[in-house]
Amino acid sequence: MDCIFCKIIAGEIPSNKVYEDDRVLAFRDINPQTPVHILVIPKQHIASVDEVNADNSDVVAHIFTMIPKIAKEAGLTNGYRVITNCGDDACQSVKHLHFHIMGGRKLPENMG
Ligand code: AMP
Ligand code: ZN
Repeated sequence: MDCIFCKIIAGEIPSNKVYEDDRVLAFRDINPQTPVHILVIPKQHIASVDEVNADNSDVVAHIFTMIPKIAKEAGLTNGYRVITNCGDDACQSVKHLHFHIMGGRKLPENMG
């Protein structure tokens, strides 16, 4: 499968890793849009939120237990935003489920 995030998980493409365990990887976004911009991904290939179901939602729950720890470790003590883009209207560019952790400055109220 030609998935850039699966290649990062496999170590075929380098990443600036901030957290890893058996099910989850977090790394710095290559094109940060905020002072802190981290992506958190499941190690299993799930294409988007549209593909989350009862069989794989445990890894999504696990991601959400790790996000606060990853955010605090990155210095986001005054809040942050968690975003996932799903499908074309949301401009999802990588078809492997990922959660953006964004912060390090006051973010705009408008989200779209
Ligand atoms: P999205 O538009 O929500 O699909 O977000 C994809 C994100 O992946 C973008 O913010 C890209 O900057 C980021 N990205 C793409 N390739 C890489 C890479 N090799 N390493 C780190 N981040 C990447
Ligand atoms: Zn993938």
